[in-house]
Amino acid sequence: MAEITYKNKINRIRTFALSLIFIGFGIMYVGIFFRKVEWLMLIFIILGTLAIVFSTVVYFWIGLLSTRAVQIICPTCNKPTKMLGRVDACMHCKQPLTMDKELEGKEFDEGYNSKKKSR
Ligand SMILES: [Zn+2]
Repeated sequence: MAEITYKNKINRIRTFALSLIFIGFGIMYVGIFFRKVEWLMLIFIILGTLAIVFSTVVYFWIGLLSTRAVQIICPTCNKPTKMLGRVDACMHCKQPLTMDKELEGKEFDEGYNSKKKSR
């Protein structure tokens, strides 16, 4: 069986939001190098601010998703985890979990969440 490197969806979005903050600050930092060219520096600062604003939007979205996520106790590590959709991975031990009895025991596939299969 192929090795599953699947991450919990909420955790994945959280990582994305966090990296956006770093990207935002990174862009602003680059802007400092162009402080002699005022308009260029301004563009970098605006872009950086946008990235940070966008990340707070994503964080807000995670908050909304979390309220809709189903909280369950992971059967593998016995810790509470939140899952989104029909299949998701445990936040702690990355154990694939499913809400659907039909999918139990089947090979883990993210494609079960949507009709079209990506990758
Ligand atoms: Zn677990």
